[in-house]
Amino acid sequence: ETLDKGLEKTKTSVFEKISRAIAGKNTVDDDVLDDLEEVLITSDVGVDTTLKIIERIQQRVARDKYVSTSELNNILREEIASLLEENNTGDLDDWELPSDHKPYVILVVGVNGVGKTTTIGKLAYQFKRAGKKVYLGAADTFRAAAVEQIVIWGERVGVPVVKQQMGADPASVAFDTLASAKANGADVVIIDTAGRLHNKVGLMNELKKIKDVMKKVVPEAPDEVMLVLDGSTGQNAFEQAKQFSAVTEVSSLAITKLDGTAKGGVVIGISDQLKVPVKYIGLGENMEDLQLFNRRNFVDSLFG
Ligand code: GDP
Repeated sequence: ETLDKGLEKTKTSVFEKISRAIAGKNTVDDDVLDDLEEVLITSDVGVDTTLKIIERIQQRVARDKYVSTSELNNILREEIASLLEENNTGDLDDWELPSDHKPYVILVVGVNGVGKTTTIGKLAYQFKRAGKKVYLGAADTFRAAAVEQIVIWGERVGVPVVKQQMGADPASVAFDTLASAKANGADVVIIDTAGRLHNKVGLMNELKKIKDVMKKVVPEAPDEVMLVLDGSTGQNAFEQAKQFSAVTEVSSLAITKLDGTAKGGVVIGISDQLKVPVKYIGLGENMEDLQLFNRRNFVDSLFG
């Protein structure tokens, strides 16, 4: 399966660390739990979420008296899946576009290099394959390369890209995109933006202006503000999520580059800690390499 393959590096790394932690031990005791804590933290699960997981396993050991180390992977899988389920909104597997208005507008934010454009291209591909009419808006007018890249993705996938010259007002590009999309009966609009986190006030104002202007065409817009995070940066992705949430209301997360990294555990921490659902995960550079995130499948893949 693509998920298993994509998570291979993280899985191998976690598996090796757990094997080392339980080497020569038959039962899960305090030493094993200490080592396990270190395994989870060094796997980028994050301290708070790691402590919650360890506590749950501790309770289980106290209850069952004897827990064999050979069961540890299964126990981790169960405890993490149930922890994530308790702390989250529903799975997104059955997610569909809402039917009460068109187009559905996704505003995409995130710093450069995290895989924003690629994720937009992949999303456009999936929506198109599902029979939806998609429009893309090149509102990252700050870098010429950003506009070029999204145009390339538009051609690759076969969806129109609305753009203006470099340096144009992003809000104006967003307005044009929505106007064209609406006039042509589009189902989905995905707007790329520049993610200059080092200029927080500038970014905040820019996003606010984009949102305000979009509402003149589609009152519900944006339906979704998606933050794209690079999973291979581990705890940095976590920090970026916090910083972006302070700048604008984020309603969904896409975590990319999980295929090339052993830091995939970061998805567990983010999924547990942030109030925003992880909606998509990126597992490669190709069009098909984007999946709706499902907690149970994710955990099954990692500890299966
Ligand atoms: P942007 O600057 O945020 O728009 O980033 P890009 O979309 O240009 O992506 C930066 C680099 O990351 C490119 O080389 C992409 O091919 C690569 N990339 C994006 N998503 C993924 C992913 O899920 N897996 C892998 N392996 N590479 C990715």
